[in-house]
Amino acid sequence: MKSYISTWPPLAPEQPFPRRLAILGSTGSIGVSALKVVEEHPGLFRVAALAGGKNAARLADQAARFRPAVLAVLDDETANSLRAALPGDYAPEILVGPAAYEAIAASADSDLVLSAIVGAAGFLPTLAAAKAGKRIALANKESLVLGGRLIRQACRESGALVLPVDSEHNALFQALCGHADEDGQELARLILTASGGPFRGRDAAFLASVTPEQALNHPNWSMGAKISVDSASLMNKGLEVIEACHLYGLPVGRVDVLVHPQSIVHSLAEYVDGSQLAHLGVPDMRIPIAHCLCFPRRVELAMPRLDLAQVGGLTFERADEGLFPCLRLAREAYAASHSHPAVLNAANEAAVELFLNGAIGFMDIPLLIETALGRHAPLAVDCAAADLLAVDAEARDRARKDAGL
Ligand code: NAD
Ligand code: MG
Repeated sequence: MKSYISTWPPLAPEQPFPRRLAILGSTGSIGVSALKVVEEHPGLFRVAALAGGKNAARLADQAARFRPAVLAVLDDETANSLRAALPGDYAPEILVGPAAYEAIAASADSDLVLSAIVGAAGFLPTLAAAKAGKRIALANKESLVLGGRLIRQACRESGALVLPVDSEHNALFQALCGHADEDGQELARLILTASGGPFRGRDAAFLASVTPEQALNHPNWSMGAKISVDSASLMNKGLEVIEACHLYGLPVGRVDVLVHPQSIVHSLAEYVDGSQLAHLGVPDMRIPIAHCLCFPRRVELAMPRLDLAQVGGLTFERADEGLFPCLRLAREAYAASHSHPAVLNAANEAAVELFLNGAIGFMDIPLLIETALGRHAPLAVDCAAADLLAVDAEARDRARKDAGL
């Protein structure tokens, strides 16, 4: 499919095993799940590099088990704690600061990069991996929202291959694979499923008073804090609509959302003849992670099998965009201009942080985002990464000021 973000994967050259794997964000929810997949299949991977943020203890534990030659952390303090916690017979190179993630992403010592940092901080490393022609297992959806056009362009120029880890996009990828239609002409629309989050069916008064603890309590998935709040506000689905547009080259009007509380059907591709192809599975991120890391090979995973008789029923309903405005805001941002999604993403990240710190209410999140989008003057479509990052920084700053902080 030529509209796919990079080379259409079935046409990409086979990548031999063992694959040399670099994980950006190894100490997070996705990173930990990925290392479980690696642990289950030790012959398929060599861990070349692990990058965490500030969790020195967890990174030290992972590093001691997988012994990569290179580690990265955000600051010197974490680097010192990390060094002190490593076993005496192992002295990896420890890189520090944001540039370290880009260096690891582009390093000649790996062929496969799992991009699993949370938020816009994942953008430059993902872009670096794309420029270096890597095979990228992409969990960091924010990088596509912020700079999807630049990542697309870098992949085209370098031959980098993006494989989507996000469960919905991985489901779509599997529903699109094997379809002979290289231009995507036979694809009618994509349907992203959404669990509806912990607040599905609640009313406006309830939403106005929810606490961070309630928002973090996702019914089906166990995830990092930021994406859990995004799932509760439906911003996660909004970001995913934009992610799907960049990955599969479709206009936003052809990417629909369907709430499916059981999280068993992970998304659907609808063709022009009315056929809908879906991917089903238990809600466990090891499935899409393993699919990307081993693609096109499938490997066994130790987890309970999906038993549809036990699930009993699968239900679907429309999303309530009145109560959950973030989904509408994301569609509007993507339609408004090339740079509005950067504002959407940055204002959302700032607002989620403020909400988690108890500084604002849950329903202030969409209000801050809408204000930020309203005042943004679009950048030229061929703007550079630095321009988008300047927009990102300004939107964060102003969202905090709008919140009175
Ligand atoms: P998380 O918060 O659990 O982990 C984030 C990781 O990024 C950690 O390793 C952390 O140390 C690192 N990190 C945080 N800030 C950083 C910074 N400024 N610089 C460098 N590293 C930094 O997040 P997660 O739930 O694992 O999500 C990671 C990404 O995957 C997000 O983009 C999320 O949207 C996406 N994703 C997650 C899931 C899931 O089930 N968790 C599903 C689909 C997509
Ligand atoms: Mg998802």
